[in-house]
Order: sequence, then structure tokens, then C-alpha cells
Amino acid sequence: MTKSYHNLIDGELVGTGTTMEVLNPANEEVIGLVPSCGKDELDRAVAAARKAFKTWSKTPIEDRRAVIQAMSGAIKENADELFRLLTSEQGKPHDQAKGEIYGAAGMMAAQSTLNLDDEINEDSDQRLSRTRRVPVGVVGGIVPWNFPVMMAMQKIAPAMLSGCTIVLKPSPFTPLATLRIAELIKDIAPAGVVNIITGEDSLGPLITEHEDIDKITFTGSTATGKKIMEGASKDLKRITLELGGNDASIVLPDADVEKVAEQLFWSSFSNAGQICVAAKRIYIHEDIYDELSAAIAKVAEGVTVGDGSQQGTGVGPIQNKKQFDRVCELIQDAKDNGYKFLSGGDVDPSGTGYYVPITIMDNPPEDARIVAEEQFGPVMPLMKFSSEEEAIERANNSEYGLAGAIWTKDTDKGVEMAEQLETGTVWINEFLHLSPFAPFGGHKQSGFGAEYGKEGLQEFTYPQVITVKKDAAV
Ligand code: NAD
Repeated sequence: MTKSYHNLIDGELVGTGTTMEVLNPANEEVIGLVPSCGKDELDRAVAAARKAFKTWSKTPIEDRRAVIQAMSGAIKENADELFRLLTSEQGKPHDQAKGEIYGAAGMMAAQSTLNLDDEINEDSDQRLSRTRRVPVGVVGGIVPWNFPVMMAMQKIAPAMLSGCTIVLKPSPFTPLATLRIAELIKDIAPAGVVNIITGEDSLGPLITEHEDIDKITFTGSTATGKKIMEGASKDLKRITLELGGNDASIVLPDADVEKVAEQLFWSSFSNAGQICVAAKRIYIHEDIYDELSAAIAKVAEGVTVGDGSQQGTGVGPIQNKKQFDRVCELIQDAKDNGYKFLSGGDVDPSGTGYYVPITIMDNPPEDARIVAEEQFGPVMPLMKFSSEEEAIERANNSEYGLAGAIWTKDTDKGVEMAEQLETGTVWINEFLHLSPFAPFGGHKQSGFGAEYGKEGLQEFTYPQVITVKKDAAV
């Protein structure tokens, strides 16, 4: 029998009359039934969060830290069960799912060590002025399907640490591991501090527009981000938007071809390319283009696409049918335009499971859809460039501004070029590394605000300045 999962509202595990099916993208079988919530369940969750906010916001930060650390511990203790469940709903290979579960637990523990210290603005004979950080209240968190556990926990942990309470909505495609975590933390977090409710996409706007939610923290597509902004504008909710990206990697001629090939490959194909900060456009200097593209294609030959629960799988299926169709459409467009493929490109749409072969494109034009649009799939366009200026200009020629990378032995040159990229994050000689202590956020249509670090924590607060006139004649 298919397992039924529950939501977490006011410290209780609850179900609803209506449920939604969750599929395994590797074989399209139903693997779980989850509540399909509407306005009534949302109202109950928000009311619980509002009630809990009264005491949680006054709870000393050291106690809040301890609760987050206990939650992190519960996730770690149950990592084995959780990573298997994550693979079954998301598709990523077991080793990558394990990385996400331990990564989420580690990130929570690390973030729990952050502080919201007061800042002194003026301490003169006349006055003492101090800024304190006040939790905004009830937070609505909305997350996508590519890193469902990491994204959920990276919103829950800082919201809690700041003194806020949260109502979190997982993606309807990947709620299972998050709901299992809800069971694990039910008796760790005080009732109402963390509420996790599931529903179709239609639950999202109800959260965005809810009159008793003070802030929305959203990770997902740019198109949905715009709707969130519109919905949140009705009562001027605070918003943090972590949106799409079309990240460029620039490989300079001094890069070590063999070493870089493997790293570039995985910067594009980890999680079947479904990463906001995956390398989605690779610009290679013409002097090493042929050699490096051949080396990347060789790495691809040794990687198996398949069911993530099977040993030896390097790239799993696409997470859902809609995204599968979109990636197939981009590949078909490349074929229709006669662009060259170094590998892959032949999808079998009649097969079971949403599998797309590792697809590497040989120097498609800059305006090809597969280059200009975020693919969010196992597709890697390699492009040739002649000068550094040209590479920077082409990398910046995007509506997105999430991340990018420079690959070179000359790290000073790498930094100089990094400073010219219009993105929130730039790596020199690595990719995908995010620190819980450094702000992560986008520029342009990749969103605004930040997660992680002090800046990320402050997003759950507003600054209150208190000024004491020292020499007042009262
Ligand atoms: P999506 O925007 O379709 O959905 C994300 C979440 O929003 C889901 O929970 C969905 O149910 C909900 N939603 C849908 N319509 C809504 C609405 N009108 N109002 C409120 N909520 C609504 O995104 P996705 O397809 O799940 O995720 C893929 C996208 O997420 C990619 O573009 C990727 O780049 C981006 N992403 C960004 C980051 C980042 O940190 N910048 C991280 C991961 C993914």
C-alpha cells in the first residue's frame, strides 16, 4: 500500500480529506500520498505560527540555537532513511542525496552559530544610538523540487534563529523527505514554531497573499518569483527571492585541461543539471577548445544515466514530466537548427522514467535557445572565445545574474575577471561551493536579498534604532 504522509501544524501531525500523489521520476510509480491543503489548513498553520511567535521571539537566542541543533542532529541520525527517500522522490543518485541530507543538517548546525548582535551607531556625549534586529513575525517559506531538503532547512533554520516562526510549503513534486523530517522534529521544535503544509501550486499564492504572514522567502523560478512579488505587494510583505540562473564558466588557456574537464563536467551534470548555480554556459578559450571539449566528452562516456537508487548511476532522471518536456524541447530546437552535438541528444520520450542522456553541444551560437535560456537539465553548451573581454561580455549578456566561474592558474587574473561579472557569486577554480557564513543571492532577474551568512539571517528581521539623548533636560 502507498504510504500516506502528514503535515505538521501546531506541533501535531495532521492529514486532510484530499491528497496528492508523489511519483518516483525513475519509474513514474506512485510512492507517497500527501495532504493537499487549501485556505483552511493554511489559516490554521498561520494562526499556530502567530501564537508561537509571542513566546518564541522572546526565547533567548541560545535556547533557539539549541533547538535548531537538536533538529540538525535528528536529521543526521536518520540520514540513511532520508537519503533513500529523497532519491526515490527527486531522482538524484544516492551519493548526491546523501550529500544533500548531511549538507542540510550541517548547514543548519553552522547557521545556528550566527549572531544578531546590536550595533552602536553613535556613542557621544549627546546620545547613545543603537540598532537592534527585531524578528519580522510569521514567515511563509516556498521551495522548489531540485534540492527540497536543503532549501527547506536553509529557510527554517535562520527564520527560527532570528526569532520568527514559519509556515513552509514544499514543492508538490518532492514533499516526502521534508514531511518525514516534520515527523522527526515534531517533539523538538515547540508547537507552532515550524509548520509544514503541502499542496498544489495553487497553495503558493494563498501564502503570498495571506494577511497574517509578514515575510515570504522563496526559492524557485524567475516566472514564479515575479508572481510572488506581485502577490506580496498587496500588503508590502518583505520578500527574499532566490530565482533562476544561467551561470557562465570561463576557461582561460592556461587551465589544466585534464583536471578541469572532470570538474566542469560535474559542475554541469550534478543533480542532472537541475541546480540553480550549475554551469549552464561554458566559454572555452579557442587555444584549448578542441582539447578540452574532447576531454569533457570523454568524461561523459564513463558516466551512467539511470535510476539513482542503483549503484553506479552518475546522473539520475529529470525530476518531473514538465521539466523533462522542456529539456526535450530545447534539445529538439538545437537539432532543428542543425547545431552540433558532441554527445547525447537522443531522448526516448516513450520510455518509462524521465531520462535525458548526457548532452554536450559543440559551439552553438550565442542566441541558441539552449544557450540563452536556463536549461535546468543534463545539457552543456560549450562555446569558443578569443579574448577575455569578449568572454566577460558574453557571460554578462544574460537576464540572470546568479553565479559564475573562472578557471585559470593565474588566480589574480581570475579575481580581476570575477570582479567584472554581474553575478552574486563567482568562483575561481571551483563550482557549487556555498558557505553558511557568506551571503548567497542573485543580481538582475536571479532575484534579490540573500540567504546564508549574517545578511541572510538579517533578512528575517527589521532594524529598530533606539536613541537615548544623554544630556536631555527632562
Ligand atoms: P517553481 O517556481 O515552479 O516552483 C517553486 C515553488 O513555488 C513550488 O513550491 C511551487 O509549488 C510554488 N509555486 C508555484 N506557483 C506559485 C505561485 N503562483 N505563487 C507562489 N508559489 C508558487 O520552480 P521549480 O520548477 O520548482 O524550481 C526550478 C527553478 O528554481 C529554477 O529556475 C531554478 O534555477 C530555481 N532555483 C533557484 C535557486 C536559487 O537559490 N537561486 C535554487 C534552486 C532552484
